[in-house]
Amino acid sequence: MKLQKKIVTNKNLSKLNSLQIGVKAKYFIECKTDADLEIAFNFIKTNKIKFLILGDGTNIVFKEPYKGLVIKNGFKKEKKIIKNKVKVSSGYNWDRFVSFCIENSLYGLENLSGIPGTVGAGPIQNIGAYGEEISNYIDHIEVYNFKTGNIEILNKMNCSFDYRNSLFKKNKHLFIKNIFFKLKSEFIANNSYQDLQVYKFKKATEIRKSILKIRNQKLENYLTKPNVGSFFKNPLIKKKDLKKLLCHETDLKFYNHNSLIKVSAAWLIEKCNLKGFRVDKARVSKKHSLVLINEDKTPISILKLKDKIKTNVFKKYNIKLEEEPTIV
Ligand SMILES: Cc1cc2nc3c(=O)[nH]c(=O)nc-3n(C[C@H](O)[C@H](O)[C@H](O)COP(=O)(O)OP(=O)(O)OC[C@H]3O[C@@H](n4cnc5c(N)ncnc54)[C@H](O)[C@@H]3O)c2cc1C
Repeated sequence: MKLQKKIVTNKNLSKLNSLQIGVKAKYFIECKTDADLEIAFNFIKTNKIKFLILGDGTNIVFKEPYKGLVIKNGFKKEKKIIKNKVKVSSGYNWDRFVSFCIENSLYGLENLSGIPGTVGAGPIQNIGAYGEEISNYIDHIEVYNFKTGNIEILNKMNCSFDYRNSLFKKNKHLFIKNIFFKLKSEFIANNSYQDLQVYKFKKATEIRKSILKIRNQKLENYLTKPNVGSFFKNPLIKKKDLKKLLCHETDLKFYNHNSLIKVSAAWLIEKCNLKGFRVDKARVSKKHSLVLINEDKTPISILKLKDKIKTNVFKKYNIKLEEEPTIV
């Protein structure tokens, strides 16, 4: 196999994922330019190997060494404002981008302050927090198609955005290169989320400050307590199943979600007495029961822990929890 200079072998990924799992990628490239993408494309085609796109690794669990090519997103250069539209390179840091928009009097993203990771990973699971989702402000997305080697434009309508889901989850050959956002020129506070209702926000900087403070109090710092944020999605159940649940669990936490009911996964985990629960070198956070902390360089403990949680919740409630991060 002929290796291009830019492609390295046996790259340790421990510093490139927030669980700090120390598996190796057989091949690794950081793509900063279109020419780099082409190198990756030709390498994959010639050697017929699998590949994985990597942002900042804050929503990924490496369960074993990666036998293909890891393509790290290094597109960070561009941020361009045209009236209320902004074009941004996908490798740019998400939270810095949110701050940049507020500084330039462009609003809508402020409730998504403090979410770790790159801009380009945002659409994958349609990142959301405090009553907002990234998809509310996306106009269109420019992707590099690793099946064809072509650049394509996807309008928001074609991205199948849903709760922690999008077209990209099943189309892993699409590398998000640039995102075009359509933002608001006037600040209207969205304090629909319970924790924010007590405040009256006049400026976007105020809501950002409150959200950063709440996040800091409620969540674990992934730099010192390796985690991927919420490990499970809130399960969606049918209305008829909600009625059955409410017969036994009068304090159940749930929300309407289109024609379905979104049940709080944190509530389910707590009701199974799993807050703070430990399996070997992984544990459920005592601060937030959706956060699993990894104290190991291997994925063994955290995978056992998440399976144990899933089994217990299923046994007690007949509800299947689904993992939020990508597991590879
Ligand atoms: C402490 C903490 C708090 C968090 N809070 C939230 C929260 O409030 N709300 C929320 O929604 N999420 C939250 N997350 C999850 C995470 O921050 C987001 O999912 C984020 O968008 C991941 O970005 P990343 O660059 O680290 O992606 P990665 O972990 O590198 O990748 C995640 C997935 O996206 C794919 N991907 C990444 N970049 C691209 C690209 N350019 N093109 C195509 N595919 C790509 C990867 O292949 C992978 O499948 C939290 C995580 C942590 C650690």
